[in-house]
Amino acid sequence: MTAPVVDTHTHLLAAGHWPAAWWDRVAEDWAAMEPGRRPEQIRDRIEPGLVDEDGARMIERMDRADVAMSVILPIDWGPDLQSADAIAHANDHALALSRTYPGRFAAFVGVDPRRPGTLDTLTARIERGEVHGLKLYPGCGWQPASDAAMEIYAVVEKAGLPVLFHTGDPLPILDRDLSNPIHLLPVAESFPDLKIWLGHAGAPDWWDEACVVAEASAHVKLEMSVWLWDDSDEKARKLWLRHLTEARNRFGAERLLFGSDHVSGHKVRGDAFLDTIVTAYRSLPVDGPPETAFTQREIDLILGLNALADLGLETTAANGVSAK
Ligand SMILES: [Zn+2]
Repeated sequence: MTAPVVDTHTHLLAAGHWPAAWWDRVAEDWAAMEPGRRPEQIRDRIEPGLVDEDGARMIERMDRADVAMSVILPIDWGPDLQSADAIAHANDHALALSRTYPGRFAAFVGVDPRRPGTLDTLTARIERGEVHGLKLYPGCGWQPASDAAMEIYAVVEKAGLPVLFHTGDPLPILDRDLSNPIHLLPVAESFPDLKIWLGHAGAPDWWDEACVVAEASAHVKLEMSVWLWDDSDEKARKLWLRHLTEARNRFGAERLLFGSDHVSGHKVRGDAFLDTIVTAYRSLPVDGPPETAFTQREIDLILGLNALADLGLETTAANGVSAK
């Protein structure tokens, strides 16, 4: 039996989850690509191409790529860009999907420390058993080592839940400097038991900074989405492999996570996207000197077993994954 695959970085959207400012920006960018096209002509056609409200398309693509479980990451864009209603709805949506498809989705909660009452809302959700982990996006405009954020980490560390931070280049309209993983160094040092997942491991410019944070705590993991796309050329694939190999040699395979940054709307990522990325991981070199070859056990750890351990889940022969 092959070990289950867990995709630790996906977005599953319903209408209204992402803010108007984001769709405005995408419409402007797309309109600019064709002479004579105006943003308002395409603005309202973009969101429907990204949503997958009932999760059916995500499940279909997971089945095709033999992915047992996906981590859904709702984004709290913060009080300046998004209403509190919208993020509550996105978080509830992820939870509902995890219940509709038992064992297939881990529902993370998008949180912005700047919102009043964040800690109480989060604590209540954790107590109700609704939280599989947190998705935090400092690039939306907050300092990762701010007092309000540190209070959240303390609660999450105690609850034993993983936290995925977006690190690396942010979505357009967000703050690039705040997305540098180096800002997480004081977090890793102050919360040695916090399960920190460095989303995108600083891609494309901050790999070294991500490694500095990984060096600081044994509970930091490098989540490798974005380093590899389905259409990556030979040069990009080599860089992805070099980083994976370097991290395995420095920190051990236990510190790496497979993630795809999948978005399951019909206008993004393509039907074969997930399959192509999973296949690349399954095809990591197993022959050659120990510095460059991976064992099957290491590949299994990266593709899913590390994530399951942090999520407090274990594998069963019958249905892939279940609660411990
Ligand atoms: Zn993402």
